[in-house]
Amino acid sequence: MSDGRAAKRIAKFIKPLRVKPGSRVDLAADFDPRYKAGMNKREGVELLRTGVSLLSEYQARLAAQDTYGVLLCLQALDAGGKDGTIRHVMSGVNPQGVHVSSFKVPSAEELDHDFLWRYAQRLPARGDIGIFNRSHYEEVLVVRVHPENLDRQKLPEEAKGQGVWLRRYREINDWERYLTDNGIKVVKIFLNLSKEEQRTRFLKRIDLPEKNWKFSAADIRERERWDDYQEAFSDMLSATSTPRAPWYVVPADRKWFARICAAAVLAHTLIGIDPHYPTVDEQAGKELLAAKRRLEKEAPEGAARDPYAANRRTD
Ligand code: AMP
Ligand code: MG
Repeated sequence: MSDGRAAKRIAKFIKPLRVKPGSRVDLAADFDPRYKAGMNKREGVELLRTGVSLLSEYQARLAAQDTYGVLLCLQALDAGGKDGTIRHVMSGVNPQGVHVSSFKVPSAEELDHDFLWRYAQRLPARGDIGIFNRSHYEEVLVVRVHPENLDRQKLPEEAKGQGVWLRRYREINDWERYLTDNGIKVVKIFLNLSKEEQRTRFLKRIDLPEKNWKFSAADIRERERWDDYQEAFSDMLSATSTPRAPWYVVPADRKWFARICAAAVLAHTLIGIDPHYPTVDEQAGKELLAAKRRLEKEAPEGAARDPYAANRRTD
């Protein structure tokens, strides 16, 4: 498939997942965790393989160009599949160009700073892909569902109270605009899991000894707040899906499908950047040629003047 056709196909594939900026999202009504675009698993696995090699090629170009960075934010409820998505989607990419940051309960040092501080420390450099496994969006999710987290943030009195979530949405949008304006593209994926599929995955984690470490009693307590989280997700998606940094709601009940969607969203972002290998100017071209001539002169008796070029012709 030509690059242009692949780009169009990817854009069409992810369109139903994008949260239209300015729209009001009701997660349960608007997005189906079991949606799979009429695809079967065999086709899906094949498509993911294609996507992974496309990502590898684009990541190499992104790194070589060294002008744009990409920040991929992954949000989900427990057992939503964040870890597996990262493992599969990034499986073909040069590890030097990718940095994964996981955000847990904030440390005392982190709580002593403004709420975006710890996320700013982990932003990708130009040429890199940064993945946030949980992200600054926890600041309007878990912190909102459990307001005692906000109390721990030591905010001054005037920064708490009623308007705090609306203000945080605005501040997050402003921050992402700043990043985008400066060449760090922000792309956001919410893995949308159904309550029943979460129950199944929790039970699997309990039933299989090698999965026990992934389960904690706190996960059950969080599950009890399911409806509050759904509301917090809906509000977050409505307020922070912007033309520059839109949200994609990825159906997460089928892991194989979620992975294709995540790969497609990331590929779409990279295709949009369209990074190119740098080319050399006339002067540097002349220098390359002079160096080539010198190396050719060093050829030992009986060796090809340029073994690489000679082998390439016979390959
Ligand atoms: P896990 O990703 O399963 O290792 O869990 C990390 C835990 O850290 C989750 O329970 C999150 O809700 C919690 N967490 C992440 N960010 C924050 C935050 N800003 N404030 C409070 N808890 C957080
Ligand atoms: Mg967990």
